[in-house]
Amino acid sequence: MTTSLPVTDRTKVRRKPQRGSHERAVINEILDEALICHVGFVTERGPVVIPTTHVRIDDQLYIHGSAASHMLRSLSNGIEVSVCVTLLDALVLATTAFHHSVNYRSVVMFGRAFPVEDTATKLTYLAALVDRVAPNRSGACRPPNAKELAATSVLGLPIAEASAKIRSGPPLPEEGEDADLPYWSGIIPLVSSRGAPENAPDCKIAWPG
Ligand SMILES: Cc1cc2nc3c(=O)[nH]c(=O)nc-3n(C[C@H](O)[C@H](O)[C@H](O)COP(=O)(O)OP(=O)(O)OC[C@H]3O[C@@H](n4cnc5c(N)ncnc54)[C@H](O)[C@@H]3O)c2cc1C
Repeated sequence: MTTSLPVTDRTKVRRKPQRGSHERAVINEILDEALICHVGFVTERGPVVIPTTHVRIDDQLYIHGSAASHMLRSLSNGIEVSVCVTLLDALVLATTAFHHSVNYRSVVMFGRAFPVEDTATKLTYLAALVDRVAPNRSGACRPPNAKELAATSVLGLPIAEASAKIRSGPPLPEEGEDADLPYWSGIIPLVSSRGAPENAPDCKIAWPG
C-alpha cells in the first residue's frame, strides 16, 4: 500500500493548498474517526447527496443499506460517485466577519463503487459496520439472518482518488487598521462525545459496559 495517493486533476487542492493532503494515513484517520459520510452522485432526477454510515477496511470504504435503496441501486451500477467526510473541530470567530471560519478535518473521495456479493465477505463487512457503532457490538447482538442479508446491499469504494483538507488554529491575524479593533477573536472548540447508555423500553438486560 502506497503512503501517498496520486494527485489527480479532481483531487488537486487548488484553494488553500497548504491545508490539503493526499497522505493515506491522514485520509484514513479522518475516515476512521467520522461516523458518517455523505455520498454524492447524479441520478436521472439530478444530483443528490445522501448521508450514511461507513467503515474503512484497508484501502476500501464500505457502505450498506436496503437493497431497495435508490442510492445502493444506483451505485451498484458502477456510476461515478463522490464521498465527503467531515469532522468539525471548532468555530473560528475573527475580528472581521470576513475571517470567520471553522476548524475541520475533511476528506473528499471519487470513484466507482462495487457490490460485495460473496456472503461470508458481506457478513464480515456488515459486522465491521456494526462494530463501528460500539466496539465488539456485532458479537453482542443477533447477526443478520438469510432474509435480512438478502435485503441488504454492501458496496465498496476504493480509496484511490482522494484528498484530505485540514484547518486548525486561531483566526488569521488581522492586518492594518483591523488589527486594533476591539472585538473578541478566538476559537470555540466543538466536542462530539458519547453520552451514558439509556435502556430501550423493552430491553431485558443491563448495559454490558
Ligand atoms: C465544515 C466545513 C466548512 C467549510 N466552510 C466553507 C465556507 O463557508 N466557504 C468556503 O469557501 N469554504 C468552506 N470550506 C472549505 C471548502 O470545503 C473548500 O475547500 C473551499 O470552499 C474551496 O473549494 P473549491 O471548490 O474552490 O476547492 P478546490 O481547491 O478547487 O477543490 C479541488 C479539489 O480539492 C479537494 N478539496 C477541496 N476542498 C476539500 C475539503 N474540504 N476536504 C477535502 N478535499 C477537498 C477535492 O479533491 C476537490 O475536488 C469548508 C470546509 C468544511 C470542511
